[in-house]
Amino acid sequence: MSGQTDMILVDKKGMRIDGRKTDEHRPVHIEAGVLSNADGSAYLEIGKNKVLAAVYGPRECHPRHLQDPTKAIIQCKYNMEAFSVSDRKRPGPDRRSIEISKIIAEALERVVLTELYPRASIDVYIEILQANAGTRCAGLTAASVALADAGIPMRDIIPAVAAGKADGHVLLDLNKEEDNYGQADVPLAIVPSTDEIVLLQMDGNMTRKEFDKALDMAFGACHEIYEIQKTALKERYAVSKEDDGDE
Ligand code: ADP
Repeated sequence: MSGQTDMILVDKKGMRIDGRKTDEHRPVHIEAGVLSNADGSAYLEIGKNKVLAAVYGPRECHPRHLQDPTKAIIQCKYNMEAFSVSDRKRPGPDRRSIEISKIIAEALERVVLTELYPRASIDVYIEILQANAGTRCAGLTAASVALADAGIPMRDIIPAVAAGKADGHVLLDLNKEEDNYGQADVPLAIVPSTDEIVLLQMDGNMTRKEFDKALDMAFGACHEIYEIQKTALKERYAVSKEDDGDE
C-alpha cells in the first residue's frame, strides 16, 4: 500500500489492469474435501491466490493448559509457503502470519458451536500456496468450508473479501498491483444469515463516503462467494453419495 498516485490502475472506461470492472471480484473456485487424512478440507482459488485449508478435531486440546472447561478452542495456523510469492518468502511464522491466524480464529469462533465440545481443540491449518493479495479473506473463506466439511456444527459459514481504493477509484477485491500501489484495503468477513461483521480491518486512507461504498461492494461480493461455498459443499456431498453407490 504505497499510495503512489501516478500509476494507472483503472483506465478511462473504468476497466482495471486484469480486465475487471471496479465492482467485480476475481473468479472464485472452491472444492471441498480434497484431503483424505484431514477431518475436513477445502481448496480455494480467487484469481491468482491458491489456498488449502485443513481441519482436525474436535480433539483433546494440547497443550492441556489451553483447555477451556466451557468450550472448545479454535487454534488457527495461517502459513504462506516460501514459494507463494515471487521473491522467496522466509519460511516460518512472522508477525503478519500470527496476526492473521488470530483474526481468522476469532472470526470462526463467532459461528462454530464451540460450547458443544468443552476442553477440546479444533485445529485449522491454512496454507497459502500462491499469494496475490487478499489471502486472509481467501484463507478464512476456505477454512469455513473445511470446517463444514469436517461436520463441525456451525451457525453459518463465513465468506470474506476485501474492497479498497486504488488510482482514486473504490475497487472490489484488490489484486497484488492494486494493493501495492493503492491507497486503501478493507478486508471484510460476514455471517450471511444475519449480515453480522466478524472481521473488518483497514489499511490506508479513504473518505467516509468511499468507505461506505467499499463496504457495500464487499457485502454484495460476500453474498456471492457464500453461494459458491454452499455449491462446493453440495457437490462434495453429491460425489460422496455416488462413491457410496459404487461400493
Ligand atoms: P492479504 O494477503 O490478506 O491481502 P497483506 O495485505 O498483508 O494481506 O498482503 C498483501 C499481499 O502482499 C499478499 O497477498 C502477498 O501477495 C504479498 N505479501 C505479503 N507478505 C509477503 C512477504 N513476506 N513476501 C512477499 N510478498 C508478500
